[in-house]
Amino acid sequence: MSIFTRLFGKKDDEETKTRRQAKGVRFREVETTNGNRYEVFTATSRDTALEFLRAEDVKEERSYLVVETPDGSFGKDLVMIFDEKTSEMIEFGERKPLPQLKKSKAHCARCGYAVLPAGRAVAGVTEMIVMEDLKKKGVGFSCQTCRTLWCPFCISLQGAAPICGICGKVIKLLRA
Ligand SMILES: [Zn+2]
Ligand SMILES: [Zn+2]
Repeated sequence: MSIFTRLFGKKDDEETKTRRQAKGVRFREVETTNGNRYEVFTATSRDTALEFLRAEDVKEERSYLVVETPDGSFGKDLVMIFDEKTSEMIEFGERKPLPQLKKSKAHCARCGYAVLPAGRAVAGVTEMIVMEDLKKKGVGFSCQTCRTLWCPFCISLQGAAPICGICGKVIKLLRA
């Protein structure tokens, strides 16, 4: 087991423990299937479930919160809160800023959420960047100057160009 696995494992446990103490929500179990991690809870109503999910962060890919209620089950992933049965989005998850900006090659400097890469660029094709699509996929930008990433929820725009919140330079889509 690498030191990273151990560190992340520990962090996960601490997060789960805090979540277990939420009002009106009860922790049931942690399930791991095909490398996906599900923290499962039960709640008395849809409203309680959504309130709980809004307050909780899911900062990594392949990590899910699921709340089962008499009104149905609701989930949260890196990007959104959704209906478990239909997989339809209810709303985007709100990303709270970190206490201070933190440069990272894997996570957004402002919110600390994992930033995913776009597919490979196709030679000779100019892509139109649609912010709503990037948000739904968790795809973000990279500042070469600051060596940090920005998620699509946290970037600033100068006209139509996304700019880095640290150095103010135009930033590019993160590529795999
Ligand atoms: Zn962000
Ligand atoms: Zn920068």
